[in-house]
Amino acid sequence: MYSLVADYHTHTRYSHGRGSILDNVEAARNKGLKIIAITDHGFNHIGFGISISSLKKMKKEIESLNRCFSDIKVLLGIEANLIGLDGKIDIPVPYLDAFDIILMGFHRFVKPAGWQDFKNLFLKNGLDKLGLVNKSRTRQINTLAVVKAIERYPIRILAHPGANIDFDSRIIAQAAAENNVALEINASHGFMTDEYVRIALDEGADFAVNSDAHTPKRIGDFKKGMDIAIAAGVPSHRIINTEEYIHRTGA
Ligand SMILES: [Zn+2]
Ligand SMILES: [Zn+2]
Repeated sequence: MYSLVADYHTHTRYSHGRGSILDNVEAARNKGLKIIAITDHGFNHIGFGISISSLKKMKKEIESLNRCFSDIKVLLGIEANLIGLDGKIDIPVPYLDAFDIILMGFHRFVKPAGWQDFKNLFLKNGLDKLGLVNKSRTRQINTLAVVKAIERYPIRILAHPGANIDFDSRIIAQAAAENNVALEINASHGFMTDEYVRIALDEGADFAVNSDAHTPKRIGDFKKGMDIAIAAGVPSHRIINTEEYIHRTGA
């Protein structure tokens, strides 16, 4: 059992969650969490990515909530998307500093950086599911793109690694460990296998167990993720949202 005091992956109505930022924060306080990140989808997400104007509103709301509540810290985050083979993500450089925490994941319904990116990242990963492309070549391309993103941007957490995209787990874990990126054990997807977690543990990567809640009532629901972490034998000090880790690092 871990003492998880932060939920670094939650959605609100600013993307496709059900609650407001305040609803999420209240739910987190009720669960006794000390930190919550609001991480709606990146700018290029089709249909529900945040916009620059909503970013400004979110920032204001979060600043005022942080003034109101002394028992919880609210972080403005984003679940950014990988959009380019060169590791490009969908946060324009001038906005990188606007966020307290950046998560990055691979999602399908996203506007790619360009045609080659569409063809080689999005189309091939779609066709991969149907067995229509060279699997190992696609895996290589994917791995390289994710590593480049990790090296290029101040990403703190790789969201649901392996979901929607096939890559070399060991190489990604090495890059994550070198660049201080935590690998998420996502409690909604329940996606990471014990085996993958063990490989990443071996390579020195840290982890984050997050709810990926899309409704306030699921905030702080870490059950599925915790089960995976326990089964793989992840020690508490390697999970960035445990009380122990936060106390030790002050972050
Ligand atoms: Zn996601
Ligand atoms: Zn999410």
